[in-house]
Amino acid sequence: MSEIDVPEDHPRYESLLTRHRIEEGVEKGITSKQGLIAEGRGEAFDYLLGEETIPSANEAERAAAAQLLLADHPVLSVNGNVAALVAPEIVDLAAAVDADIEVNLFNRTEERMKAIADHLREHGADEVKGLTADGRIPNLSHERAKVDADGIGAADVVVVPLEDGDRAEALADLGKTEIVIDLNPLSRSAQTAAIPIVDNIIRAVPNMTEHAVDLRETAPAELAEIVAAFDADAALADAEAAIRRGEL
Ligand code: ATP
Repeated sequence: MSEIDVPEDHPRYESLLTRHRIEEGVEKGITSKQGLIAEGRGEAFDYLLGEETIPSANEAERAAAAQLLLADHPVLSVNGNVAALVAPEIVDLAAAVDADIEVNLFNRTEERMKAIADHLREHGADEVKGLTADGRIPNLSHERAKVDADGIGAADVVVVPLEDGDRAEALADLGKTEIVIDLNPLSRSAQTAAIPIVDNIIRAVPNMTEHAVDLRETAPAELAEIVAAFDADAALADAEAAIRRGEL
């Protein structure tokens, strides 16, 4: 037994653990009620994917690690579900690729921004951006447009996990290279991404970190080849086919 009262060999252990972390996130004021709905949608897709990282997602995670290592100013965007599910893993990934961490919320309240920043710091983050909010993403309504000018505002590569489609599109329109983690290959966020990762964030983020550690000494030209060889449309089509087959 561990964090939850379910044996680790339970066939749905990971899924139950994920749900439990989201519930805790809501209790701590980190995750919004809408975040519970997003979790439910994610669980359904993960179930159909067999709750495992399919090979095309692993390739996407490797390409994403290469892209992050090549970036001048990478930023990892964190919302309430991301913080509740993978706070220490996000801190590890940021360290492995030298990225900033920025809190970004669909339903922004100063209280929740602060709770998430505190939670990330408790899990080892030195600096958490997003609270200054002195930058704007054009074409989004006021609260949802807020970013830090020296964070996402200045980033060339942004990881946006579990992001809403409007903001993913607005960030792509700004010329940011987007890495999206989303279990739904049909979501607008996944469709907009330069590198869509169709995998559960609890598996995707540690796997990206492992790839980044493996690729750390790789020459930039070779990293660029890994990125260029990645085909976003093929990865999305592969994930959709896996879901339709139902890899159970
Ligand atoms: P869009 O606006 O992009 O079409 P949406 O309206 O479905 O998408 P939200 O509900 O805001 O967007 O986003 C939640 C997304 O996150 C869903 O696509 C869901 O499948 C995905 N998701 C939820 N939990 C996880 C998880 N643990 N790992 C990866 N993706 C997840």
